[in-house]
Amino acid sequence: MAAEDQSAAAPATPKRVMGLYDRPFWSHVAAGKMCLQCCDACRSFWYPPAAVCPACLASDWTWTPVSGRGSILSWVVYHRAYLPAYPPPYNVIAVRLEEGPLFMSNLEGGEPEGSWIGAPVRLTYTKMPDGAVLPRFVLDRP
Ligand SMILES: [Zn+2]
Repeated sequence: MAAEDQSAAAPATPKRVMGLYDRPFWSHVAAGKMCLQCCDACRSFWYPPAAVCPACLASDWTWTPVSGRGSILSWVVYHRAYLPAYPPPYNVIAVRLEEGPLFMSNLEGGEPEGSWIGAPVRLTYTKMPDGAVLPRFVLDRP
């Protein structure tokens, strides 16, 4: 079987629900970087994308690269299949980004020893079998 035949048979990554301000975020991710909206007035970052700064309601902001570092705030491992693209078991993590926003994703590579809570992580970009690129995290070991 040719590689493209395997790719065509892979389950499709669930389609994103695109709000008014989501397209720039995903364009940056496809290019291998994560940019979030940063308020020009108070320098707060936020996610998900929105029209105004949730801290001061200013409407002037700039898509700004983030460090890609954070720590796990919460996690879960699912042992049941909900979507064909995510065969069980798979994890979902809530990451508190260094810049402040909370981001839901998956942890790849090894699991933390002991508690997952507070484990430092860094951003990586995963190319799914159907070609979609997802921002995910790996443990940020010293
Ligand atoms: Zn602000």
